[in-house]
Amino acid sequence: MLKEYQTKRKFNQTSEPKGNLPANGQIPLMGGEKIEKRFVVHKHQASHLHYDFRLEMEGALKSWAIPKGIPEKEKIKHLAIQVEDHPIDYINFEGEIPKGNYGAGKVEIWDKGTYKIIKEQIDKITGRIKSIHIELNGKKLKGKYILIYYKENQWLIQKI
Ligand code: MN
Repeated sequence: MLKEYQTKRKFNQTSEPKGNLPANGQIPLMGGEKIEKRFVVHKHQASHLHYDFRLEMEGALKSWAIPKGIPEKEKIKHLAIQVEDHPIDYINFEGEIPKGNYGAGKVEIWDKGTYKIIKEQIDKITGRIKSIHIELNGKKLKGKYILIYYKENQWLIQKI
């Protein structure tokens, strides 16, 4: 759902895209699909600098805020906080979110490219995703990464 995204923002003030495609609130199961989709990493100079990692999935951008950015070396895990789905159009967004608005500050594209899902592990009892193995093909980020579900909205991201 993009409802959370839309209710947090004042579209008469921010230049962020409104988005209108319906999207499912949960990370969909890809069923081992190996189709290349797009990803973007936004560098977001909000009250605290962080990087927003967004994966195109079923009509929306699944999004994680990563305070330390995506690790560029293996064996290091960085906390990735899942945030609300963003509209697909956000993949090209750059700009200054004005003061007094949600996420106020400068947003730049730090990297973008395509990715594919290598595999997903599902918790058989809850049906929740336990981990997602992906391969990124960006300008800066290349190679295999794993997103590991930790608790609540918290994940860990690691280069493998
Ligand atoms: Mn952000």
